[in-house]
Amino acid sequence: MISFLNLKEVNSGCRDELIAACTRVIDSGWYIGGAELKTFEDSFAEYCGTKHCIGVANGLDALALVIRAWKELGYLQAGDEILVPSNTYIASILAISENGLVPVLVEPDQSTFNICPVNAEAAITSKTKAILPVHLYGRLADMPAIMALTDRYNLLVLEDSAQSHGASIDGKRSGNWGHASGFSFYPGKNLGALGDAGAITTNDDLLASTLRALRNYGSHKKYENLYRGVNSRLDELQAACLSVKLKYLDEQTEHRRQIAELYTQGINNPSIQLPVDLAFHAATNEGHVWHVYTVLCDDREALQKHLADLGVQTLIHYPIPPHHQAAYVEWAGLSLPVSEKIHSQILSLPMGPTLSTADAETVIQACNSFQSGKL
Ligand SMILES: *Cc1c(COP(=O)(O)O)cnc(C)c1O
Repeated sequence: MISFLNLKEVNSGCRDELIAACTRVIDSGWYIGGAELKTFEDSFAEYCGTKHCIGVANGLDALALVIRAWKELGYLQAGDEILVPSNTYIASILAISENGLVPVLVEPDQSTFNICPVNAEAAITSKTKAILPVHLYGRLADMPAIMALTDRYNLLVLEDSAQSHGASIDGKRSGNWGHASGFSFYPGKNLGALGDAGAITTNDDLLASTLRALRNYGSHKKYENLYRGVNSRLDELQAACLSVKLKYLDEQTEHRRQIAELYTQGINNPSIQLPVDLAFHAATNEGHVWHVYTVLCDDREALQKHLADLGVQTLIHYPIPPHHQAAYVEWAGLSLPVSEKIHSQILSLPMGPTLSTADAETVIQACNSFQSGKL
């Protein structure tokens, strides 16, 4: 069986270093808010090219706390609208509604799966105060166009970088385009902890200090509370493990790119639409980090079964669009055809830093031997 992502294999590659890091934390007697957190925050900020990195408990909190901080700073208020892609993972949307703001769903571009700047502009109203582009599947949204748009309309930009550690356009990385960015280090992400973890990056000093207080009960100084904050901290054990894994991120990304290249060159089946137009890719000088490699197939269930029968595990990111979720019943009547098409046809092939080229070849052969009943 070729698994979608073998996390045990990923982490056993640096097992000795992870054990040494955990031992160091155990022996230090200091478990929250210490040297390991500071070291990781400094190195991840440097990696992204930003002035600040603020560690938090998970990716959802990273996004929600930025919005919360903008409310505390008076930039946003309850009822304001934030544009968000209609095909994103639900967490991007929850971060908005958790703060009493209104998520406005914007259809993505069919070919990149990312928020379409033209559709975003059309959705702007007098209540629109921010945009939350999601760099879905490891590919940056069209940030040059989005930043130009937001400059024109004076909007805040919060990047959802949960799937795009290290992704870039013209060398500028995920987390360094918007006014702030939320990262997740959930174990299956490109940079994954051994449990839950997240971070915010920003170049804004005031936002950074507000976030440092908000993540720690709203306290900027021991036993003094400026805000009604939360407890959302990145602990020393996770920070120490993340520092180990950050060293290997770029070489793991390189490996993902090689696998993606093999898939793109090797899969040749008229029923299966590949996720990338190579000419477009070269022209935009994009650094895609292939969090997942997704294909489209209008006979997806049959393709997934065919691959499973040949020992290839696949996943669907994601089977139900946000506007069809029970949690957002008020959107049940919305028609979002691009998003609906993506959700009904998308399939993620095995992808990860330890997937062998031999296994990738098996995946390619399995895709090429698929015969759609719908042709
Ligand atoms: C994983 C993910 C999140 C949430 O991160 P958690 O650490 O699981 O809270 C948010 N947005 C996107 C796009 C994600 O993939």
